[in-house]
Amino acid sequence: MLEVMMPEAFTFTMNEVPLPEVKENEVLIDMERLGICGSDMQIYHGKHKFMSFPIVLGHEGSGTLTQVGDAVKNFAVGDRVTVQPQNFCGDCYPCRQGLYNVCEKLSVMGVHETGMSSDYFVTDASKLLKLPAELSFDQGALIEPISVATAAIRKVGGVAGAKVAVLGAGPIGNLVAQVANASGAADVLILDINPKRLTIAEQCQIPHCINSSETPLEIAISECFGTDGADVILDCAGVQQTISSAVQCAQRGSRLAVIANFKAPVEMELVLLQRKEVTLYGIMMYLRQDFEEAIRLVAQGNIHTKELITNHFPIRQIQEAYQYIDDHFADVMKVVLTF
Ligand SMILES: [Zn+2]
Ligand SMILES: [Zn+2]
Repeated sequence: MLEVMMPEAFTFTMNEVPLPEVKENEVLIDMERLGICGSDMQIYHGKHKFMSFPIVLGHEGSGTLTQVGDAVKNFAVGDRVTVQPQNFCGDCYPCRQGLYNVCEKLSVMGVHETGMSSDYFVTDASKLLKLPAELSFDQGALIEPISVATAAIRKVGGVAGAKVAVLGAGPIGNLVAQVANASGAADVLILDINPKRLTIAEQCQIPHCINSSETPLEIAISECFGTDGADVILDCAGVQQTISSAVQCAQRGSRLAVIANFKAPVEMELVLLQRKEVTLYGIMMYLRQDFEEAIRLVAQGNIHTKELITNHFPIRQIQEAYQYIDDHFADVMKVVLTF
């Protein structure tokens, strides 16, 4: 079978390797779709701080089971699945609190260990989630990023009846806003400086889509939400300016979540969080329940997914796909590889 390996940054090699052996608790997935993520781009550029080459990329996959180990109970050949790509120790302090998403030995498929960019992918059955018939394989590949959003909304304590502002309308910001919308938020505002991303946000029926280079966050919040402001602000942009303005604009007693991967240290006026009693949440990945919620929301038709996928490339053109994202960064949302 084909396995796409990255020996170093900017380089893919197409290797012909034997089909992996399937142990008793494992399954073999015939891959159908694989999403490319911001973290994949960081690896591609050699800028990811927490991985090492060589690596087989890919953590946003969907496919069909073609082999099932003898001890696997709840899955059968032919099941359509997606994969929760986290391996964790189960023993460390966070694992013992049920927070395996921040396990001290967290190993993410396609980042710290072999990922899914191969014709077939072998994994432990405990990492699988079934895709209901109404979900396409494209949607299956989006369940992982949607789970980042369902996890964020869960971790901030839910948004029922809340006014929610999302900073950044890239794939994660878009999905966080959509999940907030689908989870009972009273109103949702999303901001970006990229007009294309704002147009896609509008197509996804996010209620307020505002260009922050024309309308600063403070004005946008008061125009959309009135003087009470935002109950929750979620930063999916990850730059100095957005987090500074979020800290400035956060209402007294409100909630602020950091979902973005900040690539450099930033300055923020912490005293404002203290004096306004703003609760700050760090958001890192997800739990299994967040995958289940993501699948439920998509199956109910509550998340727009077609609008998010701007391009498909065959797996053998993975180099072109990454190059395309680099060359068209402002126009690309989600690029999905096909098998
Ligand atoms: Zn991802
Ligand atoms: Zn652990």
